[in-house]
Amino acid sequence: MLPHILDTPIEYLKGIGPSRAEALRKETGVSSFGEMLHYYPFRYVDRSKFYTVSEIDSDAAWLQLKGKITSIQTIGKGRTSRLVMNFRDHTGNVELIWFQGVKWIKEKVGVGREYIIFGKPNLFNGKFNFTHPDIEPAEEEALVQNEPLQPYYSTSEKLKNRGFTPKNFVRIMRTLLTQVHKSIPETLSPQLLQAAKLMPRAEALINIHFPRDPQSLAKAQQRLKFDELFFIQLQLLRLKYIRMEKVRSRVFAHIGENFNAFYHQNLPFELTGAQKRVIREIRADLGAGKQMNRLLQGDVGSGKTLVALMSMLIALDNGCQACLMAPTEILASQHYKTISRMLEGLPIEVALLTGSTRKAARTELHAKLLDGRLHILIGTHALIEKQVQFHNLGLVVIDEQHRFGVAQRARLWEKSEVPPHILVMTATPIPRTLAMTLYGDLDISVIDELPPGRKPVKTYHFFEKDRYKVLQFMKDQIAKGRQVYIVYPLINESDTLELQALKEGIDIVMDHFPIPQYHISIVHGQLKPGEKESEMKRFVEKKTHIMVATTVIEVGVDVPNASVMVIENAERFGLSQLHQLRGRVGRGADQSHCILMSSYKLTADGRKRLDTMVRTTDGFEIAEVDLHLRGPGDLQGTQQSGLVGLKLASLVKDEKLLKLAREFAHRTLDEDPQLNKPENQPMVRHLQRSEFDWGRIS
Ligand code: ADP
Ligand code: MG
Repeated sequence: MLPHILDTPIEYLKGIGPSRAEALRKETGVSSFGEMLHYYPFRYVDRSKFYTVSEIDSDAAWLQLKGKITSIQTIGKGRTSRLVMNFRDHTGNVELIWFQGVKWIKEKVGVGREYIIFGKPNLFNGKFNFTHPDIEPAEEEALVQNEPLQPYYSTSEKLKNRGFTPKNFVRIMRTLLTQVHKSIPETLSPQLLQAAKLMPRAEALINIHFPRDPQSLAKAQQRLKFDELFFIQLQLLRLKYIRMEKVRSRVFAHIGENFNAFYHQNLPFELTGAQKRVIREIRADLGAGKQMNRLLQGDVGSGKTLVALMSMLIALDNGCQACLMAPTEILASQHYKTISRMLEGLPIEVALLTGSTRKAARTELHAKLLDGRLHILIGTHALIEKQVQFHNLGLVVIDEQHRFGVAQRARLWEKSEVPPHILVMTATPIPRTLAMTLYGDLDISVIDELPPGRKPVKTYHFFEKDRYKVLQFMKDQIAKGRQVYIVYPLINESDTLELQALKEGIDIVMDHFPIPQYHISIVHGQLKPGEKESEMKRFVEKKTHIMVATTVIEVGVDVPNASVMVIENAERFGLSQLHQLRGRVGRGADQSHCILMSSYKLTADGRKRLDTMVRTTDGFEIAEVDLHLRGPGDLQGTQQSGLVGLKLASLVKDEKLLKLAREFAHRTLDEDPQLNKPENQPMVRHLQRSEFDWGRIS
């Protein structure tokens, strides 16, 4: 391919040059014409209007003022020094403050001259000031575009130093657009543009920088957001289509003895509606002749294990073996116990394989696995090892998905000549928009219903003054035969202050719950894995009443007898973590309680998190709030999702547009699965140019 004008290094743009180009690349990552084109304004300002000092009445808006500098002072020394100027117009005066780039500003500004300043006022000690405003000599006013929607680009003191002032950015962008606007390629087909009523791309890029009017700006934003979302979806769905085309898997055509015997004789309870629906979805997949790649989402306690088991029985009924992989030994052996118990009396051979399985047992297990005498293998990462060879592996179930890397999943794939069907289970609810994007190539099943008779965990938020009440409550519950978790937010295991807090906490607990009446398990990150396991085990086996732990308590551990979860410094946990922790209780028939202890000082977000926990136990609702509070950037898995490529679109605000984009991606591939049609070539070219590392997904 010939280099495109948009691939031209930015240093060749008039007025930039090599050294400024380098500064720009370092600060913003922009290094070519094309990337510069996607350096969008972060706001649009009305610079046709001037305000006066007396008109400043809130710190909400960005304002432009004209006036004189009457004094310039440097206050303080070294790293904390700042430059303070007094700015006056005919109605009053305000301070302008700089903490960085002081030298450069000082050279540029002189007392007595008239300037135009532009910025966002802050209220400090009852007075307004501006920190780091733009400042231009008033005689250059003519250069400031007097448009109501002037683009405003984010810059830094370093960049300003190299001449990238907001005003210059505008100038540079104008030069760039003048030069390239005729060469901006369209990325969508004419058909799609028309069907989705989108603005052509070149027009959108011109209008995102220099909007003709508010309507054009809105259309430009819509178009460019659509592009961002559409190409992620197109790529994900393409992977899925390719897999459907190419990756044939075994057809599990019938439901046979094992499934039916289990269903009629062993099933200890009625399936929930959601479980039935999900099993139907899985059955349809398994029978279709394509490899299943399904994500099963279900809140903690929603009964995913049973769904996994019944899916495995379908594999057995069709002459295949199945395996279930869990992230820890405790979880694996818990699954092993549960599943063996559920299969009692049926002619099904189940085994457990973990790091601590002894050599002799291991050898026997390998042999049985290879000749097909063993039907279901449950275990940890040990399952991935080379020596573990199946006779005929048909289904792989992976529990608590996020702990397993993509590469590990891939190795299970290779355990069978025909790729096995894959069911991935996760208890971390993900908002719909995010799931569509993160797992857009997987099919998704959701168990959105808890088994009947579950009492939702009651959640309370307490402060230190209620400590005594909380301790008393724990005693009452223990007296009733229940067990209690206390969790500390030890974020940094080497942080001495945090360790100190943990130790003090443990001391308080030991004071109030003395031996021999009470026994306590203590688990934290500095224990050796073996010690951790044995402390956990004592709690699981009801040998201890209280489990004091840092966040290391295992996801998915099932101790139905535990009815109280106390979370210390709860404000320091993220919402999904709080939800996971709370999910450790409420697993039995009795009423369970979650107590959130917090300090008195809470940030707005901290308060919102705790209020949300008190208000609802719905994992999906909590995930939505989490997404709103944090944005998708911090959520699990987003790094590898291409979401980092989202500049304009938001998974919080643009759900509708995302659905539309996915629908159009579907439509496009339904009509032209290989993207061979001439009108779709712009899309293909765009995908080829796209920077995302798609190989890392799926
Ligand atoms: P998770 O989805 O968190 O893995 P589990 O599969 O561990 O949930 O199930 C939680 C508990 O609910 C288990 O004790 C299980 O036996 C029970 N359970 C599962 N399905 C049902 C059902 N349909 N009716 C009643 N109890 C159920
Ligand atoms: Mg589970």
